[in-house]
Formats: sequence, C-alpha cells, structure tokens
Amino acid sequence: MSAAFDLTGRHALVTGSSRGVGYALATGLAQAGCRVALHGQDRTRVREAAARLADQTGAQVDAVSFDVTSPDQVRVGVAETLDVLGQIDILVNNAGIQRRHPVLQFPTAEWDQVLATNLTAPFLVAQRVAAGMVERGGGKIINIGSVQSGLARPTITPYAASKGGVVMLTKGLCAELGGSGVQVNTLAPGYIHTEMTQALVDDTSFNSWVVGRTPAARWGSVADLVGPLLFLASPASDFVNGQTLFVDGGMTAVV
Ligand code: NDP
Repeated sequence: MSAAFDLTGRHALVTGSSRGVGYALATGLAQAGCRVALHGQDRTRVREAAARLADQTGAQVDAVSFDVTSPDQVRVGVAETLDVLGQIDILVNNAGIQRRHPVLQFPTAEWDQVLATNLTAPFLVAQRVAAGMVERGGGKIINIGSVQSGLARPTITPYAASKGGVVMLTKGLCAELGGSGVQVNTLAPGYIHTEMTQALVDDTSFNSWVVGRTPAARWGSVADLVGPLLFLASPASDFVNGQTLFVDGGMTAVV
C-alpha cells in the first residue's frame, strides 16, 4: 500500500457509529489500522457495537456515549474521548437524523432537533476536537453531508437545509484551520440502505425512483462509502480542503 494511504496508529472518533453508515466507516478505519472510538447516545448499543467491531477486526475499539446536541455533553464527552484515545487525529461528524413532514406543517421543535443534530452538533464537536489538531499542526475532519446538501426534496426541508449548511460549515472550518495543517471536507453520500432509510427501501415507488434517478441504477451500500472516507482521512488528501465529495452513483451529476 502507498504510504499516502497509511492510517496505521491514527486515532479516530466517528460520531453516530453504533450502527448504519457510521459503523461501516468506523470499521473501515479500524481495518486500515486506526484505533477507533465508536459513539452514539445509547450507551449499551455503543458498547455492544464496539465489542462486535473489536471481535471482527482484532483492533482496539473504544466506546463513548454523549448527546451531540448538548453543548455540555459534547464538552464532557470529547474530554472523555481524549482521555481514552490520547488524541484525535481523525474526526468523522456522522451522527444525523431525518424527520419528514410537509414544510408548511413542519413542527418547529422537530425543525430545531434536525438542525441541532445535523448542523450545530458537527460545529460543537469540531470546536472541541480541532484545538488539539491545531496544536499538533495536523488533523482530518470529515463532515457527513448528503445528496440533499445540494438537492431539495419535498418533506425533508430541515434535513436539506442542515446538510446544505454542513457544506458551508466545512468551508468555514477550512478557512480558519487550513493554515494549521487541518483538512476539513464533506463526504456526501447518495441514497444508502441503512436503518434510517429502511422505510424508503420498502416503499416500492420511492425505491424505483431512487434506482431510476441514479446513473448507477441502484441504492448505495455502506461499503461504497469506505474507500472515499479512507482517502479523505489519509495523507493522500493533504491538499484537498473545504471540498464536497459526492458518493452517490452519479445522482447529483445529472438531471
Ligand atoms: P442511522 O439512523 O442508522 O444512525 C444514526 C447514528 O447517529 C446512530 O449511531 C445514533 O445513535 C446517532 N445519533 C443520532 N442522534 C444522536 C445524538 N443526538 N447524539 C448522539 N448520537 C446520535 O443513520 P445513518 O447511518 O443512515 O446516517 C448516518 C449519517 O449519514 C447521517 O448524518 C445521515 O444524514 C447521513 N446520510 C445517510 C444516508 C442514507 O441513505 N442512509 C444518505 C446520506 C447521508 P443512537 O442510536 O444512540 O441515537
């Protein structure tokens, strides 16, 4: 393997990695030689996932648990993660939620919850983690966006607004941290089959819309995201900063 892709000995925190996309990304990092901290709100679920991943990979896997929407919990939780890992070289801001309602009836509390989880939380976690990266003169922050970072759809307006915001959060962090050797990029997945999207996969007409709208003519799998993540986490991408990498089977390239 080229040294440009070597992640041996790096320490990584992947938020929302007790299942779904985050678990797959954390698995990829562990298999590439990283010591990984899995994370979620549900402490039992994170611990079980960490034990499973350690078993699968033989890697040392830690479990941390905090609510990313609470500034206090983020402060304490990131400090605990740093105690466990020693340092965080790679941060993947992946925890996210989706709520669906017509925009004119969207409950304000749910709007706030989506924005807090998908947009404010990556800011809060990055703020706590990036200080150490700046001190050491290097680090990688990968914010998980979506095809909805650039494309709207009915009923998910706050989700699209939050994921569009993630692209600009990434650019803002790049503007201020780039000079300290920190790269901040957005990895924007297309439609990926996970627990979050199970209901959409089961919806025959939505399912065929996704397949028809995607040049690759299929849903993505979590495995499709791992290679692009490893690229953005490794020295191979040291001159790639502030960018959005769509991993969507071509969906955002065509109308
Ligand atoms: P899942 O619903 O399968 O998993 C969500 C993860 O985030 C869980 O680990 C959950 O932990 C955690 N989480 C949610 N809210 C909080 C919170 N307040 N504090 C701490 N942890 C939290 O989602 P996916 O794997 O499908 O999605 C992961 C990311 O990928 C999201 O950002 C999503 O927007 C993005 N994405 C997904 C796509 C898809 O098709 N699946 C497409 C494009 C983007 P717990 O269970 O403990 O709450």
